[in-house]
Amino acid sequence: MKRHEINAMLDFDREHIWHPYTSITQPLPVYPVESASGAILKLADGRELIDGMSSWWAAVHGYSHPQINAAIREQTEKMSHVMFGGITHKPAVDLCRKLVDLTPEPLQKVFLADSGSVSVEVAIKMALQYWQAKGRKSKAKLLTVKNGYHGDTFGAMAVCDPVNGMHSLFADVLAQHYFVEAPQCAFDAEWDDSYIKEMRKTIEQHADSIAAVILEPIVQGAGGMRFYSPQYLVELRKLCDKHNVLLIFDEIATGFGRSGKLFACEHANVCPDIICLGKALTGGTMTLSAVLATAEVGEAISNATPGVFMHGPTFMGNPLACAAANASIDLLFEINWESKVKAIETQLKSELAHALESPYVADVRVLGSIGVIEMRKPVDMGKIQKRFVEEGVWVRPFGKLVYVMPPYVIKPEELSKLTGALIKITAEAC
Ligand SMILES: *Cc1c(COP(=O)(O)O)cnc(C)c1O
Repeated sequence: MKRHEINAMLDFDREHIWHPYTSITQPLPVYPVESASGAILKLADGRELIDGMSSWWAAVHGYSHPQINAAIREQTEKMSHVMFGGITHKPAVDLCRKLVDLTPEPLQKVFLADSGSVSVEVAIKMALQYWQAKGRKSKAKLLTVKNGYHGDTFGAMAVCDPVNGMHSLFADVLAQHYFVEAPQCAFDAEWDDSYIKEMRKTIEQHADSIAAVILEPIVQGAGGMRFYSPQYLVELRKLCDKHNVLLIFDEIATGFGRSGKLFACEHANVCPDIICLGKALTGGTMTLSAVLATAEVGEAISNATPGVFMHGPTFMGNPLACAAANASIDLLFEINWESKVKAIETQLKSELAHALESPYVADVRVLGSIGVIEMRKPVDMGKIQKRFVEEGVWVRPFGKLVYVMPPYVIKPEELSKLTGALIKITAEAC
């Protein structure tokens, strides 16, 4: 694009357009991207950035993948959309079959929704309807852990970390749930029963009013980029079974290989009653999410008044999104996602370790293809983002967290450039 065209576009953007979590009067700069392919974002002024974000966990195959593009194009020729009420179609059926096959065996019943947040709403509704169906109406609260992130809609917000999720802003309208301390046992650390004590006590005391425990398995994403012990999930599953509480796993960020397993719950070999998937589901091309529940949950809901599950978005099962998801999932296996994620993990571990040499860095941690540098103080977002762009990489920190989860297709030399920029910039006073 020409310089004056770019400026006109940015002027309008600054004046009229909200970006995620921004001010409309004092927005931080935004960078116009004209195209993207592989692990490269191409800016309108011609500069190229190596992508460290996968557009928030989603673009696992990078950008403009020819196979996903072809699937979307072919589906467009047949139909972009058709209502899902009273109608079904092959893209949705193919996708749901794949999801039933790939997720742990007990998860059999699929609900397709529009976004991660909506899938969390759906999962919560399922849990509430389940207990109503069982004649246990008092079981209507949720139990979760601090530092969680489950989305921006009201049901989801009510189970986000009370501080990060800004509960105080919406205190009068948010549902009140139970919160316990975030899991404190690190991924590789030795387990001790004290790590689950508060959770156990809360379940024991309040089981009569708790419908479900909801949390992100193994990796707490946007609420802190923390990795915790699989044993926490093993113990939690036992507690939920013992006290008649459903277990919901939000795998919207971790699903489809990111943590080193296809689904993070496989680290613990634990199956939830309900799972939420999104983000990488379509390889980051279109918005789509899925909720899978056990047959037990599905049947209980359906065998009691009103006999149906009460949800049905307009764009449910969108054929274009389903076609993209089918192509993305097929591709995961064609590229051998597991070896790709393992290679990224190995490289991130060896290269990011040097970040600890910076006086500004408090911690470095890597799991699967997720690399986190935790700073001692919150970064100056505008300043540090500009520095990353100058160094030719796309990284978007929040708070004290400078982190990357690159597309699985990133080349080793691209990844080195990315980690090199991370180390250089986290050693500066940002
Ligand atoms: C991103 C995310 C969500 C919300 O998904 P949206 O598509 O942004 O609505 C929910 N849970 C987790 C764990 C996420 O990472």
